[in-house]
Amino acid sequence: MNYHSHSDSNITASFGDALLASLAPNGGLWMPDNIHKFTHVETAKLGAMSFADCAAELARYFVDDRFSDEDLKNICRDAYDFPVPLVTFSDEKLDAATPEIARNYVLELFHGPTLAFKDFAARFMGRAASHIMNKTGDKRTILVATSGDTGGAIGDAFLDQDGIDVFILFPKGGVSKVQEQQLCTMGKAGCNIRAISIDGTFDDCQQLVKDAFADQKMTDRYSLMSANSINVGRVIPQSFYYFWTSLQIKAAHPGVPIVYSIPSGNLGNLTGGLIAKKMGAPIERFVIGNNNNDPFVDYLKTGEYTPRPSVPTLSNAMDIGRPNNFPRILDLHNNDYEAVSEICWGASFSDEETERHMRRVFNETGYVMCPHTAVGHLAMEAFSKDVDLDFVKVVVGTAHPAKFADSVERIIREDVPLPKPLQKAMKKKKRVHVMPPTLEALDAYLALHAA
Ligand SMILES: *Cc1c(COP(=O)(O)O)cnc(C)c1O
Repeated sequence: MNYHSHSDSNITASFGDALLASLAPNGGLWMPDNIHKFTHVETAKLGAMSFADCAAELARYFVDDRFSDEDLKNICRDAYDFPVPLVTFSDEKLDAATPEIARNYVLELFHGPTLAFKDFAARFMGRAASHIMNKTGDKRTILVATSGDTGGAIGDAFLDQDGIDVFILFPKGGVSKVQEQQLCTMGKAGCNIRAISIDGTFDDCQQLVKDAFADQKMTDRYSLMSANSINVGRVIPQSFYYFWTSLQIKAAHPGVPIVYSIPSGNLGNLTGGLIAKKMGAPIERFVIGNNNNDPFVDYLKTGEYTPRPSVPTLSNAMDIGRPNNFPRILDLHNNDYEAVSEICWGASFSDEETERHMRRVFNETGYVMCPHTAVGHLAMEAFSKDVDLDFVKVVVGTAHPAKFADSVERIIREDVPLPKPLQKAMKKKKRVHVMPPTLEALDAYLALHAA
């Protein structure tokens, strides 16, 4: 499989080279040249496999010949050693129009080591990158801007890997207490993961990473690699769980259309879903939930795309004013607004609405949602009121509520127990470097710490 730059299809690369380069030389985003569409017979077979084995089969169509089928099976079985549950809870009272409980699911994508869906992409990407680097002896410096969850997932996936240094840039005061603790306690002191608290917003962090990549001197000197969803290696694995879970649901509800609701920020998760649909996953529509940072929802409603500075919200992992996968979504639909808006439907919600919803769901069902998942759940409710369609609802649960314990406990007025990996992180001493959002400061810090 070859990849091309979304802004110039003459610029091409293999999967491995696109992965290590992160961006095309013209600054474009790498896109797969084609997306294999599976037949009904093939999809039925894939749905009957374990998630890890299905992922390995799908991955075959996206990688290059440096990966054997056996390699992919090993990578996926090793990466995906945790459950991918579709859970139901009684929300009859929340939605009298569809009393069938069994048609309402939350796809809990937060049972990996860092308790957010980012683990799915990070763990595949980390293993794929080291597979190639072991063959070539390359070294890389990973820069990752995080609104809270990516940094942890990437840090965990690359911890103690030879030839790789990871620098995690997060907005000072812009991530939850638990997230900050997790980001600043990865591995041992002196390990290859370093957390940097940027005096600015997430957009500043993301801009800083982009500026570093645009600086040829820095790119060459440090062999920079991005682990944000501008990297195609982050996006491809996010198609695997849509593909596999939609087949599980189809088997349980034959003939009923399936709609996923995705709480979105940079739109990487949605891009994964759209790729899965192109591969033949039985998915009817995608609902997109935004917080007050909603340029994509606005685009869906009006056809006008206006990126803008991000504002802080309760669902901080989605505080993104300039979603970096927007060009990919256009590219997948030949820049046709009609085509995008036929598949995607969106709505945005204030923090107040999100809080009220979290409290209501908890009081009526006992189910605790993280604020992001709650935005997706609200969007699904709004969608089902808007359409006359009998369908299976799948809300994508993007993070474990305990990652946002400070706000979740305040909202539901109940303790949220921390799962084991977080308990461990909470006991460790934080290691963090505070820095202004300037390229000079970043360059100076990398000069000291990048191998
Ligand atoms: C990253 C993240 C999102 C947003 O995902 P995108 O792929 O950036 O749209 C939503 N919820 C949580 C908990 C996240 O960590």
